[in-house]
Amino acid sequence: MTVASGVQAYVGIGANLGDPEAQVRESFSRLACELPQTRLTGRSRLFRNPPMGPQDQPDYVNAVARLHTRLEPLALLEGLQAIECACGRERDGTRWGPRLLDLDLLLFADQVLDLPGLQVPHPGIAERDFVILPLLELASGLQVPGVGALEQLAERFDGASLVPIVEPGEAVATAEGRG
Ligand code: ATP
Ligand code: CA
Ligand code: CA
Repeated sequence: MTVASGVQAYVGIGANLGDPEAQVRESFSRLACELPQTRLTGRSRLFRNPPMGPQDQPDYVNAVARLHTRLEPLALLEGLQAIECACGRERDGTRWGPRLLDLDLLLFADQVLDLPGLQVPHPGIAERDFVILPLLELASGLQVPGVGALEQLAERFDGASLVPIVEPGEAVATAEGRG
């Protein structure tokens, strides 16, 4: 099933096992290539971030992707879960436990959905700095349906626990460099 002209959707990406940074980068490539009727139209920076929930697990690397898709929401979620599996994700039922890759459907156009197995906007969105701050890089001015303005949600967070990861080859801005 498809949405006729296509819509914007946002995906929250997280990984904290194996080589989390490499997995998040790989997931951007997979989002670009492996989802039918879907284009990757934006990627946030990557951030290193302490785990949510159980603390006896490694730090996470988190990011957000923007997609333009003609898939229906459930078909898109299925595609995201297929990518999680392809990246070695195993579901052992532990909530917020360690994982090679987690792809959450954060937003699907301006829709509010409460289906078995799919809630949109993602229910954790407003409380998570590692979602809101990367999302802000891609979607300034966005209204999170049923929740509020993204900029206003972001005001609650100082970003202190999110450490941006410098891209390979990316220049690090210094005080002198900014002249
Ligand atoms: P959280 O959803 O709080 O971030 P989690 O990502 O660790 O926790 P998972 O074990 O990955 O949770 O997923 C549990 C279930 O959540 C999935 O089987 C999926 O059907 C359901 N789910 C509901 N809404 C969404 C959504 N918007 N995106 C992804 N999965 C969702
Ligand atoms: Ca999640
Ligand atoms: Ca998930």
